[in-house]
Amino acid sequence: MSDIEIIKAKRAGFCFGVKRAVNITFKAAKKGKGVFTLGPLIHNPQVIEKLCKEGVCPTENTEDRNIQTLIIRTHGIPLELYQTFLKKDFKVIDATCPFVKKAQQYAKLLCDEGYQVIILGDEKHPEVKSLMSYAGKDAIILDSNQELQKIKNKKRVGVVVQTTQPTNLLQEFIGKLVSRVSELKVFNTICNSTALRLKETKEIARRVDLMIVAGGKNSANTTQLATLCNASSVKTYHIETSSEIKKEWIKDVARVGITAGASTPEWIISEIESRIRDIGGNGDNGYPHESGRN
Ligand code: SF4
Repeated sequence: MSDIEIIKAKRAGFCFGVKRAVNITFKAAKKGKGVFTLGPLIHNPQVIEKLCKEGVCPTENTEDRNIQTLIIRTHGIPLELYQTFLKKDFKVIDATCPFVKKAQQYAKLLCDEGYQVIILGDEKHPEVKSLMSYAGKDAIILDSNQELQKIKNKKRVGVVVQTTQPTNLLQEFIGKLVSRVSELKVFNTICNSTALRLKETKEIARRVDLMIVAGGKNSANTTQLATLCNASSVKTYHIETSSEIKKEWIKDVARVGITAGASTPEWIISEIESRIRDIGGNGDNGYPHESGRN
């Protein structure tokens, strides 16, 4: 074992919504056969592989006759699609994150009250597509405050936000929007899980010689963490599993920080921590210990 110091982010790994969805899915797997998720449950190949071994695979083909139970992911799906599924022969388990559900309800409320709904977010993101379906036919999606000229109704405008957007983007957006419309109603639907994770990661990156960011290479929030660490000028590696860690990365390194995206399970984070302890610093890697430190 080495004497390397590891600072692990308290908020590394599954957020509330992902933990809930993964638990729901493993429970469904135990109950019966024919369980599928609509697309990969989360952006983590190792978790998807584990679920497949338990008999739960992703599918995009809802006409597949083998489906007995279909699980909806944390991002949610458009309302019309949900209603179509309810008419099918299979059971639907809705694992949409409760925070996303709340945003859907606010989008519907604004529409029912006669506001033109603006969704601040990425139009390609599944969550934003689901929000659109609740927001009425006049709803528009904007992803920056550069696009305000697209707003037609200048009287009554209502705003909801994609849950993972940064708060400063909403603040800037509302700051510019407020002088352009007569009545403005805003629901801050941002989930603070992402913001707190980024904040903690930034603080750790300042204190270490090396950052390990764990999570799917296809995970947007993990990539965002890696980008943040790189911007802090600390040497950073974005990995999916402990097997990717090379001895030379941590040769002579005294302090390593570990953070992980919202879809990274605890077992992967623990394996990374163990591997760093096994091969890192001035311990078992063949480098001499400083006097008094062993
Ligand atoms: S990041 Fe927030 S909104 Fe998204 S799944 Fe996690 S808890 Fe839910």
